[in-house]
Amino acid sequence: MVARPMRVAVIGSGPSGMYAADALIIQQEIPVTVDVIDKLPVPFGLVRYGVAPDHVSIRSVRDTLDKVFDKPGVRFIGNVEVGVDISVSQLQEFFDAIVFTYGASRDRRLGIPGEDLDGSVAATDLVAWYCGHPDADRKTFERLIPSATAAVVVGVGNVAVDVTRVLAKTVEELIHTDMPEYVFETLRRSSITDIHVLGRRGPAQATYTTKELRELGELLDADIVVDPSELVFDAASNEVIASDKAIARNVEVVKEWAKRTQSEKSRRIHLHFLSRPVELRGDDRVREVVVEHTELDGRGGSVGTGKTFVISADLVVRSVGYRGQALPDVPFDATHNVIPHLDGRVQGDCAAVGGQYVAGWIKRGPTGIIGTNKKDATATVASLLADAANLPAAPLPSTEAFDDWLAKAGLQVVGNAGWRAIDNAERELGAVSGRDRTTIQSSQDLLRAAQVI
Ligand SMILES: Cc1cc2nc3c(=O)[nH]c(=O)nc-3n(C[C@H](O)[C@H](O)[C@H](O)COP(=O)(O)OP(=O)(O)OC[C@H]3O[C@@H](n4cnc5c(N)ncnc54)[C@H](O)[C@@H]3O)c2cc1C
Repeated sequence: MVARPMRVAVIGSGPSGMYAADALIIQQEIPVTVDVIDKLPVPFGLVRYGVAPDHVSIRSVRDTLDKVFDKPGVRFIGNVEVGVDISVSQLQEFFDAIVFTYGASRDRRLGIPGEDLDGSVAATDLVAWYCGHPDADRKTFERLIPSATAAVVVGVGNVAVDVTRVLAKTVEELIHTDMPEYVFETLRRSSITDIHVLGRRGPAQATYTTKELRELGELLDADIVVDPSELVFDAASNEVIASDKAIARNVEVVKEWAKRTQSEKSRRIHLHFLSRPVELRGDDRVREVVVEHTELDGRGGSVGTGKTFVISADLVVRSVGYRGQALPDVPFDATHNVIPHLDGRVQGDCAAVGGQYVAGWIKRGPTGIIGTNKKDATATVASLLADAANLPAAPLPSTEAFDDWLAKAGLQVVGNAGWRAIDNAERELGAVSGRDRTTIQSSQDLLRAAQVI
């Protein structure tokens, strides 16, 4: 084992990166220092830029993650993109081990004609916009939302439910959140009256969770509409309803909604099952979605029937999943969009790549809840620590040498103090309007708050 503290770089400060850093630092056997490197000037990945801002208690997990930066030996190295600002091989010169936890937040595509029409957007981009991500395409959403009258959301997972809820809520229902001010301004001008949510399978196959689903039926100014004829259950559905309480609850919720009569509310959420989009049509912008009725195939899947109907819509939000991306010089499984591994050890063609580890969404794909990443990251760190005993006692350049390298590369690094300054600035900004915090969106404003420019 090396005589000095082992130096580990964790690439990505989302939950998996923060849980990995924590697992490394709290153990007593091997002295370790950890640099958590993120391409953004702020930490916490999708906890900040994915989890819906109106789910305040889930978002508060960042307070737990933040405590990791208070522990001696853990540094935040923000605003440094691995693969762009520094290569993996350069990092290897400064660290004994690297843990890749850079997530999988690219959208999947539908692969249907018209998908690239103006007005057809990925849920990833809409979520980034309302969460105030530095790369958010503000212009597009500030143009599309006030000029749309009907939206189609493709997908029935929790992200689809999140975006539907945010589009259907009144600003008064969101004003307590940390959403940037521009989001409220745009949503206030929203002219959307109807939101159609499309699930290609039946109510027993939808992947949302009951708590999130129920919220759609409890909105101030939006009714939920379910066509009873779409509540179809085959033998496979009945089997899964009988064996899985969560699915049984989901089915009960939509059955109850199918009995509801519409009120005078100004918006409607139409939940469609056994429906999949086959084409988006339009002119300078998407105008309608051609939807094919599907039927259950008896094995939990669905097949097209060839019968179609058309929904008029000038906004289409594609929410059909996330995928990971390769990092230069790091093995990648392009079929599953993950880094191949064995017990968290990155696998090359025939063997483990020494000193490289992986955790979180880029290890197992976009599945599970935030807490799943804790168990996952802890398991990866266990492999890393087990290997540490066999690490050659190679001399490494000092921490200062790494910092010098970053400075010489002209990078405006946000460290722990810079992040604390951003955190304070966001709290102060929130206090102006009686909120806990307001997200600062632009990179320049974040860097200014961090006092690195
Ligand atoms: C829209 C949405 C809503 C969600 N809501 C919930 C919820 O309500 N409850 C729940 O339990 N789970 C929720 N999840 C799931 C949860 O967010 C994930 O389980 C979790 O964030 C995955 O953690 P991760 O650390 O693997 O990836 P991420 O959170 O994506 O973190 C990856 C980090 O790596 C950084 N990074 C990427 N590339 C590089 C690079 N080249 N160099 C340096 N840094 C890089 C990113 O900036 C990011 O900070 C949601 C997910 C999404 C997408």
